Amino acid sequence: MLSFELTEDQQAFRTELARYARTRLRPAYAERAAKTDFPWEAHKELAALGVLGIGLPEEFGGTGVSPDDPVTLGMATETLAYGDVNVAAAPVQSGLVAAQLAEGGSRAVQERYIPELISGDAVSGIAVTEPGAGSDAAGMRTVAEPVPGGWRLTGEKIAITHAMCAKTVLVYARQPGSVRSKGISCFLLPMSAEGVSRAHMPGMGCLPLGWGSVAMDSVFLPADHLVGSEGLGFAAAMHHFDFSRSALGLLCLGAAQASVDEAAAYARDREAFGQRIIEFQGVSFPLAEHATYLEAARLLCYRALWARQVGQPHTALAAMSKWWPPRVALEAIQSAMQIHGNLGYSTELPLQQRYRDVMAYLVADGTSEIQKRIIAKDLLRKVGA
Ligand SMILES: Cc1cc2nc3c(=O)[nH]c(=O)nc-3n(C[C@H](O)[C@H](O)[C@H](O)COP(=O)(O)OP(=O)(O)OC[C@H]3O[C@@H](n4cnc5c(N)ncnc54)[C@H](O)[C@@H]3O)c2cc1C
Repeated sequence: MLSFELTEDQQAFRTELARYARTRLRPAYAERAAKTDFPWEAHKELAALGVLGIGLPEEFGGTGVSPDDPVTLGMATETLAYGDVNVAAAPVQSGLVAAQLAEGGSRAVQERYIPELISGDAVSGIAVTEPGAGSDAAGMRTVAEPVPGGWRLTGEKIAITHAMCAKTVLVYARQPGSVRSKGISCFLLPMSAEGVSRAHMPGMGCLPLGWGSVAMDSVFLPADHLVGSEGLGFAAAMHHFDFSRSALGLLCLGAAQASVDEAAAYARDREAFGQRIIEFQGVSFPLAEHATYLEAARLLCYRALWARQVGQPHTALAAMSKWWPPRVALEAIQSAMQIHGNLGYSTELPLQQRYRDVMAYLVADGTSEIQKRIIAKDLLRKVGA
């Protein structure tokens, strides 16, 4: 029988996180979101709540449930995003890096770098995008040249989340002379390594996430900093994106749900033409429609995460839950702004901030167009084209 019921443990965890999101995160969301400082205090609180160790090995401080315990992680992300969509990105970002280290990192790298991600003492980034290669990631040019004892990396990555606050970055680079996806490997790059520099990239939202570029000028990395198999890093990265995409969909939906709830409360209290505006179908129907779209998009994301959890194919489902839910979320937030009238446009309320923050996810982790390409490819595979 089909069931979307969370376990008792997951429900209790969600209740705890929902309380934290509403009472601790939400009141100061707009204030945090306006600054470029990484929210270390909230991040450490997430660690104390156990959010940063979901699915990660117990020996390093994680819950050890499964390689990435995708349903729990998605649920935590959605629940926290109700309070602060930027802070809530942490379990996806830290989880994505730590899961790759747990899966393919050397013992030395695992012991040194996974515990600090779970304890919230450090954050990491994932560096794929380059000035000349974004959607076409296989066109990357960063080179990892084999040298005695390890590699030397040279190249530039841009648009990297956490570039400015990360202690380490998972960086993708190719063997000299290799072409397209073959020959790309993944490395753990300490940002303190000689030859690494970083620069802030101002954005229209997600300011606390430290968006920026990372340049590598003949950076030496010891042999044990290779993550996964040499030359097979591209496929491994895509496998991990199949998880993060659905979690990011839920991240957007959590923020949108907060906006719709705020709009419903406002419409209940605000009066015009002698009655509460919620009595106008022009106000109540959009709320009902967005509540419906959010619910449908939420189910899609959980379906994708569940498929990953039980080992079913989920690449197309993950792509669906990366292009549609952010779009649904943005439309819901925009409608919530409209229902608030002039206040919706004002920076007094967090709605416009959520709109700018959520908009990032139409592009980050693969654009909507690239997700549709993945879905269309799956369709064609099914009809035998
Ligand atoms: C807030 C934010 C955070 C990010 N964080 C990270 C990060 O942590 N790490 C990282 O590596 N990258 C990150 N990125 C970069 C992101 O992954 C890339 O921006 C994205 O993959 C698109 O690449 P591009 O910007 O080079 O656009 P391009 O690839 O140049 O695309 C430009 C436009 O053309 C469209 N397009 C391209 N090819 C096709 C096609 N075949 N069919 C249809 N349309 C196409 C795209 O959809 C887009 O609309 C982040 C981006 C943002 C905005």
